[in-house]
Formats: sequence, C-alpha cells, structure tokens
Amino acid sequence: MTSGSHFKWASYQQFASKRSVVIPRAVVSPPSRAPCSFSVVSKSTNSSCWNMHSWSACVIGGGVVGLTTALLAQERGAEVTLVADKFKTETTSDGAAAIFRPSNSFNVITPENTKEVIAVSYRYYEKLLKEDAGVKLISGCNLSNESLASTRNSLLEGLVPEYRDATEMELKQYQGDWKFGTYYTTFLVENRFYLPWAEKKLIAQGGTIIRSTINDFSDVKNFGDFDLVFNCSGYGAKKLCNDLAVEPISGQLYRVDAPWCDKFVYANGMDTYVIPGYLATVGGSRHSESYRTKPCPHDGAAIWSRATALMPQLQTSQIREQWVGVRPYRSGGARVQAEVINGIKVVHNYGHGGHGVTSAPGCAAQAVQIAEDFLSLTKSEL
Ligand SMILES: Cc1cc2nc3c(=O)[nH]c(=O)nc-3n(C[C@H](O)[C@H](O)[C@H](O)COP(=O)(O)OP(=O)(O)OC[C@H]3O[C@@H](n4cnc5c(N)ncnc54)[C@H](O)[C@@H]3O)c2cc1C
Repeated sequence: MTSGSHFKWASYQQFASKRSVVIPRAVVSPPSRAPCSFSVVSKSTNSSCWNMHSWSACVIGGGVVGLTTALLAQERGAEVTLVADKFKTETTSDGAAAIFRPSNSFNVITPENTKEVIAVSYRYYEKLLKEDAGVKLISGCNLSNESLASTRNSLLEGLVPEYRDATEMELKQYQGDWKFGTYYTTFLVENRFYLPWAEKKLIAQGGTIIRSTINDFSDVKNFGDFDLVFNCSGYGAKKLCNDLAVEPISGQLYRVDAPWCDKFVYANGMDTYVIPGYLATVGGSRHSESYRTKPCPHDGAAIWSRATALMPQLQTSQIREQWVGVRPYRSGGARVQAEVINGIKVVHNYGHGGHGVTSAPGCAAQAVQIAEDFLSLTKSEL
C-alpha cells in the first residue's frame, strides 16, 4: 500500500505534453443503485469522449479548485465524475474578490514549489484571456505608509507584465497621504463566469456532475469504481479528513456599482481593498474559526467606513449586495498530497485559504501529476 506525497514537478508545458499513464478503464456502476441521496446535475451525451479515457477519477468539490482539477485531469486522459453538495453561487469561490494576488506568506509545500504553482497558474489564466471564462487583466496599487518593501509581492515580481513603484500621482489618487506604493497588472478571475464556464467545459469533454454529500471517502463508490479520488473539498476537508489544521476564516465584502473605478487598490494597515469588475468589490474582513455566511452589520459598517475614507467617491455608489464567504485556511499551507484511505487512492488538494483562485490551476496541475505518479507506481507494483 502506498501513502504520502509522490511529487515530481514538471513545468506546465512538460505537464501538458506528457503522455497519459495507461491504466485500465474502470467500469462505472450505475448511480441509480446508490443508497445515498444524490442528483445528477449534468452528464455528457458526447459518447466519442468515453472511448478516449485511460483512467477514471472522482473529484470531490465544485469550487474553483475542484473544477480546475477536474479539467486538468480530463486533459490528462481521465474520465471525470465530479461530486459536490454546493455549486456556483453556493460556493466560497463564487463570491471571492478573486484577484490573482498571492500573499508573500502563501505556501504550498516549499517556497520554490509555491513559486512554480503561481507561475503555472499565471500561464493557465493567461490562456483563458482569449476565452469567455471571466478572466481579464486589471492594474492597480498596493499602498503603505510604512515602507516600500511592504507593498512588494515577491511571487508576482518578474511574472506579471507590469510591476513598478507607484508614481506620486497614483499615490495621490487615494485619501490617506500614502507614502509608498507598488503598481502592477494582474488577473481578475470573476468566478460568476469562470465556474459556469468550467462546468460546461467539463460536461462537453465527457464529464459527469453529481450533487451529493460525501461523508466518508467510501461514499464515492456509490457513483462508480474510480481509479482515484481528488479531494478538493475546501474547508469541508476539516470534517471529511478530520484535518484539524484546516481553519475556516470568514470574510465579508460589498459589491457596488462603480463604473468609474478602473484600478484596484489594496491599502496595507487598513485591511481595505477596492477591485473593479462587473460590479466593484469592496472589502474586507477576517474572522478565524468562523463558518458565518450571513453579513454582519458591524463588519459591513466598518468596511464601508474604511473604504469611503480611502476612496470618498464610493459614497455615491449604489450597493448591490453584501457577501460573506469562508476561506479554507490551513496552517502549514495548502495540502496537495497523496494518501490511501481505506484502500481508496486519494489525492488531496485543499486548504488554499485566501488564495484559492490564484493558486487553483498550479495546485491542480500538481495534484494531477501526483495522481499519475501514484497510479503508475501502483500499476508497476502489481
Ligand atoms: C472575502 C473573500 C475574498 C477572497 N478573495 C480572494 C482573492 O482575491 N484571490 C484569491 O485567490 N482567493 C480569494 N479568496 C479565497 C478563495 O475564495 C478560496 O481560496 C477558494 O474559493 C477556495 O476554493 P475551493 O474550491 O477550495 O473551495 P469552495 O469554493 O468552498 O468549494 C468547495 C467545494 O467542495 C464541496 N464540498 C465540501 N465538502 C464536501 C463534502 N463533504 N461532500 C461533497 N462536497 C463537498 C462544496 O460543496 C464545494 O463545491 C477569498 C475568499 C473570501 C472569503
């Protein structure tokens, strides 16, 4: 029996061009015999896809991490069934500010690996600029009154197309007598568009989507005989894997009409940001060990007061909604790792905290590579 991580990193290009590991195709048992409660959300009618699969995977999770992992597994020849109990607007992913902006402290296994994850993610989103997937480029500033260093982002420097000191004029656009700033261009990934785009693509490529709750990894057997399971359950992993390192951190934000807002701004020390989009996003807040998904009026008032102090023009903006989501934080960093649980091969991919949109493609590519290594290793042991 094999357990633990089997990680050999390849760049995304190598990853994308590597040949599939040939694993005998699993027989998918009819879900109608499943004793648990479920509904098939979508299933492909494209039978030509079904003959091309070389391995089968069940992906638990329909947020940005699960869907991206599912798509990259399909690219590598997997027949994919995705099972989740929440989709699109019900997920954390849907409402996230969703700017491509890892913090300097974000970690996936090691600092070198984190850098690679972010670079792979960047290239993935870059390709999606040409598609109708909700990805676009935006520019703006990190501001600080303490130091220039605190506005820098070591993971973005050298990766994004524009990255420089903010000019005096750019600093003066915001109230607060800002002394330091870094200006850069990055991606906005509007999940209200990306999640439906990814679901549609998954189905078009022969995948199946099922709504059900997985209480134990053996529950996936209700939906087929899979070679492997990807666990992309976000903060749900705390319960599913009994992983005490997972900490739900709720965060609140506003969505407002502000068509004049064409630059993002992060104000260090104020914990305040404004991001342009189909509606502008105004945040934020953080509450540890909180599963709260209903807006708190006190948090709302505090966010609005800070944001309008930074950007007084917001006072005239119409508020369209307040939203609260739960970040799947994990102390020690995101978990991208293989494990055998009750005889089921599982590759975990959860715990991305406040950076799940930013890191989803890189972590997904890594999870799929671990899966391929895991399966070929198991096969050669037979
Ligand atoms: C206020 C706020 C702002 C944010 N801003 C950004 C940002 O600017 N940039 C950024 O990169 N990130 C940001 N994030 C973080 C980002 O939203 C998350 O890291 C990301 O959405 C996590 O994606 P996920 O797919 O792991 O989780 P989720 O979107 O929560 O999806 C988890 C999925 O797993 C399923 N699931 C869980 N348990 C089970 C189970 N037992 N059985 C069946 N299904 C299960 C759920 O139904 C769901 O489909 C922000 C988060 C918040 C709250």
